[in-house]
Amino acid sequence: MSVSAAPLAFREYDDENDPLPGDEVARRYRTLIDHLPLVVYVDALDSVSSNIFTSPQIEPLLGYSVEEWKTDTDLFTRLLHEEDRERVLASHAQTHETHEPLSIEYRLIARDGRIVWLRDEGVIVLDDHGQPLYLQGYLLDITREREAELQLRQQALYDTLTGLANRAFFHERLRHAIKLRHEEGEATGLLYVDLDDFKGINDRWGHDLGDEVLREIGRRIEQSVRPGDTAARLGGDEFAVVLTEPLTPEQAVGVAERLLKEIGKPLESGSGPLYTSASIGIAFGDHDETLLKEADIAMYRAKAHPDLGYAFFDPELDRAALDRSKRIGELREGIARGEFRLDYQAVVDLGRSSITGYEALVRWEHPTAGELPPGEFIPLAEETGLIVGLGEWVLTEACTEATRLCQLHGRPMHMSVNVSARQLHHPDFLRHVTRAIDASALMPSLLTLELTESTLLSSDERVAETLRAIKELGVVLALDDFGTGYASLSYLRQFPIDVVKIDRSFTAHVGTKDGDLVLLKGIIDLGHALELNLVAEGIETSEQHTIVRKLGCQQAQGFYFGRPSHPAQRDLDASIGGI
Ligand code: C2E
Ligand code: MG
Ligand code: MG
Repeated sequence: MSVSAAPLAFREYDDENDPLPGDEVARRYRTLIDHLPLVVYVDALDSVSSNIFTSPQIEPLLGYSVEEWKTDTDLFTRLLHEEDRERVLASHAQTHETHEPLSIEYRLIARDGRIVWLRDEGVIVLDDHGQPLYLQGYLLDITREREAELQLRQQALYDTLTGLANRAFFHERLRHAIKLRHEEGEATGLLYVDLDDFKGINDRWGHDLGDEVLREIGRRIEQSVRPGDTAARLGGDEFAVVLTEPLTPEQAVGVAERLLKEIGKPLESGSGPLYTSASIGIAFGDHDETLLKEADIAMYRAKAHPDLGYAFFDPELDRAALDRSKRIGELREGIARGEFRLDYQAVVDLGRSSITGYEALVRWEHPTAGELPPGEFIPLAEETGLIVGLGEWVLTEACTEATRLCQLHGRPMHMSVNVSARQLHHPDFLRHVTRAIDASALMPSLLTLELTESTLLSSDERVAETLRAIKELGVVLALDDFGTGYASLSYLRQFPIDVVKIDRSFTAHVGTKDGDLVLLKGIIDLGHALELNLVAEGIETSEQHTIVRKLGCQQAQGFYFGRPSHPAQRDLDASIGGI
């Protein structure tokens, strides 16, 4: 702490120089000191700045008595706000050393936990010979000023109604994001959100409710964006979101869809639920004004197709988004209408040259586009979660067909079913499997679930638990497309896998490329060492067939043995090509 007025109250009275008796001076000044709206202090210049005097105003200010300041030499350092401590102690040390005045602002934590902002002005008092005596000063409470400053700053940067960034701050954040992205050679994404018919809400329900709606929408927008992104209110019913992290257009659509879903949830008002909707314009670029203009234009386009709710500035992306949205709608309807069917591809035993079972492969009989392969709709079904229902249907249908095949051939027939990540992670997956087995009365050991490495990629302990439970039923687990993922071997250790399906990319060129042959041999040898059952995928020629058989692969699948086909068509076609 520290000041400059003569320390009369603490000096020995000097008969010759002092015009008044010492006691009188002490009394007068003491009264003054006691009534100043600040704390006066005197500290010794020893290593711990021992406190010699503190005026009583300190107690209401910080909750510690004058006595405590005197006796507890460490109190000041302890009460210093962590962020200020180093700076304040360094300043004090400098004043002790150089005898320069002290002038500093910092925070102390009061006994009740309040943060008190103080201005500390102090001087070193010298004796007649220029020798330093002590540090004398005052502490002024500036908490209110600081809070007012903070409030001003808050008002300058944030929207008072919603607490979101205001237009000025939004521009600052946008420019910052653009600069960061630009350095990485990436464009920044901007979402421009405009409520639909907000004027109607104001007119019908009044401005108070209108404000309430804006506050609630602001809160929902803020909660829907990721931590680094900036949500702002640009004015009226217009909001914006700066996507700070680089996003693909698909991911930006994901954000837009999430926002629209949140905004569309009913709002509670005194007279029942109130529904709002919004239109979102999406633009990518690296210039703030242009971005804003383009997102705004896109937003107006979004208003023109309210079923989608969002639009890109770039018409190409817009078309892709429209197609995607249309496809999702069709997929949902297609599932409800049962537009899917399964084809089955034979799996053959290379030793006995006989069919041991089939793999079920789903197809969509699209009403206008014709038959679609899984590659064209599984990713979308996966993204939207529609795969869970579709996958359950596939499981039941495939198990039923397996039972039929067993009866038809009079011997066990295995059935392999592909399972996607979303299905596997679904809390009811185990139930879906048991339901399919029960409904079809299939022996669980005749069902194989095919999981790819990417399916297992984000599997946690819960998924491992589900897989163990499925294994306990007697169901077989296969790792599909082996070798195309990242951590094939670790999965074999981590999960109870019995079968490995070697991806087509390893068998495709074995007849022509020596390197591929070595690789395939390595995989097969490894499989043998781990006592796994191996299935070679994508066998198209007799040469490939001979090679995988010679290398000791137990089973194979591919066009050479048969293309995936519909049961009715296959039942007629008794002979299998190649074997
Ligand atoms: P997959 O499980 O690896 O299935 C094998 C794919 O390879 C099938 O393609 C099959 O038609 C094709 N194929 C089989 N033999 C040959 C061959 O000799 N040469 C060539 N070039 N291709 C061959 P499809 O039916 O288009 O299925 C692609 C993928 O879609 C499947 O790969 C599987 O991952 C996924 N899938 C199929 N049905 C389902 C399903 O019901 N659920 C899930 N989640 N995914 C499925
Ligand atoms: Mg498969
Ligand atoms: Mg495969």
